[in-house]
Amino acid sequence: MKEFAADPSHPRYDSLFKRHILEEAAEKGMLAGSALIAHGRGEAYDYLIGEQTIDCAMRATKHALYHLKHAKNPVISVNGNTTALAGEDLLKLASMLNCPIEVNIFYRTPKRMQVLLNHLEEIKHKNGLSVEILGASPDARIPGLEGPRAKCCHSGIFSSDVILVPLEDGDRCEALVAMGKTVIVVDLNPLSRSAKTGSITIVDEVSRVAKNLVDNFEAQEEKLDFPFDNDINLRLALKHINESLIDLSSIID
Ligand code: ATP
Ligand code: MG
Repeated sequence: MKEFAADPSHPRYDSLFKRHILEEAAEKGMLAGSALIAHGRGEAYDYLIGEQTIDCAMRATKHALYHLKHAKNPVISVNGNTTALAGEDLLKLASMLNCPIEVNIFYRTPKRMQVLLNHLEEIKHKNGLSVEILGASPDARIPGLEGPRAKCCHSGIFSSDVILVPLEDGDRCEALVAMGKTVIVVDLNPLSRSAKTGSITIVDEVSRVAKNLVDNFEAQEEKLDFPFDNDINLRLALKHINESLIDLSSIID
């Protein structure tokens, strides 16, 4: 592992550490060329929400967990950034849910697929987990999408009723919703197409979400005692950003 020199007392330590993880992932061949740019867009929104899990995100997370736990065929779909930043916790979650995790990337190359699959296999063995890792041999297609990005596994994404798909592209998210699935999106940008089309959108950073899902797994109540509306939840995230900006602007005089 390349040395990470930042001091934990640095105010941007967490953010710098995530950049370091992604830099290493890029060197290993886990990421597409645009991955760091996508992360930068996320970072900007994270800055605006205060680099924390806000209340409406925690509500969406608990709602998502309820749906995952009560699904017939849940699945977790991961891309390069998600694998690098949250692979370990999502493997733990898959093990708790007894569901597969499927590597599904937008810019699919056999080499990158293999590097991501190997990375997950390594974490799985290190943690002694028993999880089916799919993606090596796609044998189904997501209807309504063209080209390699439609590829998926029949026993994973294709047959799932509830899918956790962090950092998904808007198009693919829409196609998954059109298949009748409950689509759980993680996206720091409440204005993205994915955020707006998902069934449950968690406006939070993917590694924080993965940890929250694992930490709340056992305590999750059997019944949800609060209603959930995705549009209202997105508006609450935007309201939080607006109010933070007003607070922040009051100190610049
Ligand atoms: P869409 O296709 O949904 O309209 P987009 O094209 O703006 O979205 P993409 O490039 O498809 O965005 O995906 C990147 C998205 O992932 C951005 O919306 C960004 O905010 C979000 N994102 C990036 N890194 C993270 C992260 N670590 N945690 C949560 N969200 C993130
Ligand atoms: Mg997009």
